[in-house]
Amino acid sequence: MMTYKIGVLNGDDIGPEVVPVAVSVIKEAVKGFDDIDIDWQELPVGFPSYLERGETLPEITLQTLPDLDAWILGPIGHMAYPKDDPKAINPHPILRRKFDLMSNIRPARSYPTIRSLHQDVDIVIIRENNEGFQPDRNMFIGQAEFMPTPDMALSVRVISRRNSEFVARTAFELARQRNGKKKVTAIHKDTVFKIGCGLFMETVREVANGYPDIQLEDRVVDTFAMNLVMKPQDFDVVVTTNMFGDILSDEAAGLVGGLGMAPGLCVGPDYMMAQATHGSAPDIAGKNIANPFAMVKSAQMMFACLGEKKKDSSLVKAADLVQQGLDKVLRDMKAVTPDLSGTAGTHQMGEAICDGINSFA
Ligand code: NAD
Repeated sequence: MMTYKIGVLNGDDIGPEVVPVAVSVIKEAVKGFDDIDIDWQELPVGFPSYLERGETLPEITLQTLPDLDAWILGPIGHMAYPKDDPKAINPHPILRRKFDLMSNIRPARSYPTIRSLHQDVDIVIIRENNEGFQPDRNMFIGQAEFMPTPDMALSVRVISRRNSEFVARTAFELARQRNGKKKVTAIHKDTVFKIGCGLFMETVREVANGYPDIQLEDRVVDTFAMNLVMKPQDFDVVVTTNMFGDILSDEAAGLVGGLGMAPGLCVGPDYMMAQATHGSAPDIAGKNIANPFAMVKSAQMMFACLGEKKKDSSLVKAADLVQQGLDKVLRDMKAVTPDLSGTAGTHQMGEAICDGINSFA
């Protein structure tokens, strides 16, 4: 019997709608496996935590997370937090940084039944998570964005060999595992950022030497942004630095049906955190119309990855069942949310995924 300790951090706005759906779907998938036991631990985070405890990332959460195998983090609506209170911090960059979650794995896959700009798209973008231009996480102390004068702003970008190596390795391992093109495309702008993108590409090429079965190609980010829109079918696994990855993964989501279809998994050497690409969607919060696909698929990726890491074939099988449930719902299109041109609510779509799982279990 394997026991997993899994954290549940609902987050803000649509978070308390889509995260419980992800949890119920995983519960349904593991139900038939006597050798899997999950100890779910709900932990406070975000604005509900601020209202209740006066902080968006309380000590109890920070103290508990290191003892867990993995956790699900719902979307965070930090733009709505009070600006003048240091206890109202944006928790997700801190979690990514504190737990060394360097790789953010963001798939974009088209489904024939979902209206999208292209068909036959199956890409995974690996975005470096903790450095680059993002000033709220790329410094040990202080912020990497500052104003020396009232009329001048500077932003400092960080690229390290360590993090570049980790994301490159994530990309090559994934390209090897996937039944795809056996190709990694590295995105940069070393024509201009000769040192920063230069170090990133030098590191990616070094890692590529250890994967002779995987082809490495590289593209300049602006050309790639165009290629992605025109012929996304040319790509399989894509690896890049933080801000390029942030932008390109939303672009990729836009190709296959929008942010409700955009899952994500943050991984590091010791921990993993399921976190969808989308934000907290305050415009649709509380209406039971948020698409739970991204959050459910993020949790599915986390359990598949955990199963591989722990060499637990039952957990890998349970994660496969979740995938089959998701695929069935998107094939049938009888219970999908309005962003996918359906009329189902968030919970109804979640129940349909559970029914789908049961039809395969
Ligand atoms: P957003 O991703 O929340 O929403 C953009 C659009 O996509 C909205 O129209 C929204 O309704 C729609 N959308 C998003 N998720 C959806 C889903 N699951 N189903 C259906 N439609 C969905 O981006 P935003 O509006 O720019 O940001 C809102 C808040 O979220 C801000 O506070 C922002 O800082 C934060 N944010 C958080 C994260 C994160 O936690 N990872 C990521 C991006 C933005």
